[in-house]
Amino acid sequence: MKTKRFVRVAGCVLISALLCSYILFQISKSRTFQFFGGLTYRVATDHKVVALTFDDAPTLKTADVLAILKQKHVVATFYEIGKEIERYPEIAKAVVAAGMEVGNHSYSHQRFLLTSPSFVQSEVQKTNDLIRSTGYKGDITFRPPNGKKLFSLPWYLHQHGIQTIMWDVEPDTYLPTNQTEDEQTTFLVGYTVANVRPGSIILLHPFCDTCGGDRRAIGQIIDDLQSKGYKFVTISQLLASSTQH
Ligand SMILES: [Zn+2]
Repeated sequence: MKTKRFVRVAGCVLISALLCSYILFQISKSRTFQFFGGLTYRVATDHKVVALTFDDAPTLKTADVLAILKQKHVVATFYEIGKEIERYPEIAKAVVAAGMEVGNHSYSHQRFLLTSPSFVQSEVQKTNDLIRSTGYKGDITFRPPNGKKLFSLPWYLHQHGIQTIMWDVEPDTYLPTNQTEDEQTTFLVGYTVANVRPGSIILLHPFCDTCGGDRRAIGQIIDDLQSKGYKFVTISQLLASSTQH
């Protein structure tokens, strides 16, 4: 009898623990909620403004992206990884020299789930210092690697007045497999242009060797959205244009 009761209680505890873990995992990857300080995935605005954001800079492909932006006379926000700034300091300086906004994407690009406060502090602070070492003077916002955050990261950012920036348009997530690069580019452009609204934040990953589809999509996304009346701004400019303060 006692054994049966023990099994029943243990089963309940296990199911509760699994359910709790599942809920926390879902919250950790939410684009629209975090426990402390809030986050921004889009701003409320009456103006047709949109922010292009690129994750995982700097890499050797950064110059290609800067060339497209220069040709189109458009600004964007580059979320940089600290250890990659150490690897490519000159490329990181070129991003600043081109007038782009720079954000913090952590030092080592690990998932911030059950991380200690000291780990969070080191990841954020070290990367902010590296960004400053490239000559960047503007505000530095933070984007969690893989969009993952739970307790310690939002708490640290909230305590230090650092804004968490997510996104509302991420075409890569929906990219069908087994497509040619041209088909991928067509999909990325079509999905992005169809889903952007005033105040949107677009996330692209154009810097890896196999991310040619994202790189080629940038120019067409800019052309198509500009023809619909959109103006491209940095994250700081987008936050400043919000009608909800
Ligand atoms: Zn990333």
